[in-house]
Amino acid sequence: MRNIIILFSLVIFFVIYHKGHQQIRNDLSKPPAEREVYYRIGTIDPRFNLSESEARSLVLEAAKVWEEPLGHQFFFYHPKAAFTINFIYDQRQQTTNERQQAERVLNDNQGRNQSATDNFQQKQSELTDEYRRHNDELAALNERISQHQQMVALINARGGATPMERQSMQMESDQLDRDVAEFNQKGTNLDVEQVNLRHQGEVIQTQVDDYNQKAKDYNQKFVGHPFEAGLYKGDAINIYEYGDKDELRLILAHELGHSLGLKHSRDPHALMYPTMGEQDLANFKLTQADIDLLYGRANPY
Ligand SMILES: [Zn+2]
Repeated sequence: MRNIIILFSLVIFFVIYHKGHQQIRNDLSKPPAEREVYYRIGTIDPRFNLSESEARSLVLEAAKVWEEPLGHQFFFYHPKAAFTINFIYDQRQQTTNERQQAERVLNDNQGRNQSATDNFQQKQSELTDEYRRHNDELAALNERISQHQQMVALINARGGATPMERQSMQMESDQLDRDVAEFNQKGTNLDVEQVNLRHQGEVIQTQVDDYNQKAKDYNQKFVGHPFEAGLYKGDAINIYEYGDKDELRLILAHELGHSLGLKHSRDPHALMYPTMGEQDLANFKLTQADIDLLYGRANPY
C-alpha cells in the first residue's frame, strides 16, 4: 500500500514537471500584422548591469513603439515563452564603451576649442580697436607737430622768439617728444600683442585640426553603427551592445520588428533602417515606412 502511494505521487510530480516545461512557441507563418510574439527574458550578462525587471520594462517600452501608434498588442511577456531576449556581453559592448569614451573626449575638445576660439576672437577685436585708436592718436599727434612747426616758423619769420616764447616752445617741444615716445612704445606693445595673438591663433588651429582628426577617426570607426548591436534569430533576440537606455529601447524595438517578420526599410529615419543614426533615440516615433513594412505595403530593403 505504501509503495503504491509513493508511485502515485511520482506520477503527479512527473505531470507537474512536464507541464512546467511546456513552452509557448510563436507562429512564424502568420503575416507580420497578425503575429503574436510571446517572449521572456533569457540570460543577462551581469556586466551589462541590467536587472531582469529593468530589461522587462525596456522591452515593454520597445513593444509600445509598435503597439501605441497602431493600437494593437503584438508582444506578450510569458514566463513559458520559447522565444527569449538575451543580453550577451562581448567585444561589441567593449567597442561601445570605447565609442562613448571617444565621444566624451570629442565633446570636451569641442567645448575647449569653442571657448578658446571665442576668447581669441574677443582679443582680436579688442586689438583691432586699439590699433584704430592708435592710428587716431597718430593723426592727432601729427596735427600737433605740424602746428608746433608752423608756430616755430611764424616766430622765426617775426625775427625770433622772446625768452618766454622760447621757454614755452621748448616745453611744448619736450611734451611732443614725450608723447611721440609714448606713442611709439604703445605701437611696439600692440605689435607684441599681435604676435602673441597670432601665436595663440596657431595653437587653437592645431587644437581644431586635432579635433577634426579625432572626429574623422571617430566617424570612420563608429558612425553608421549597425543594428548588429542586436540580432534576431527566430527563437531569440540577442542584444550585444548599447550606449544607453534610449539606444537599447530602439535596438529592442528594431529586433521586435524582425520578430514580427519584418525586413529592413530604406528610410534612414525608420526604425527598421539597418543602422542607427538618423532616428530620434529619445522620442522615437514609428515612421510611415515602418508601418508600410508591417502591412506589406513597402518593398523591403
Ligand atoms: Zn535589422
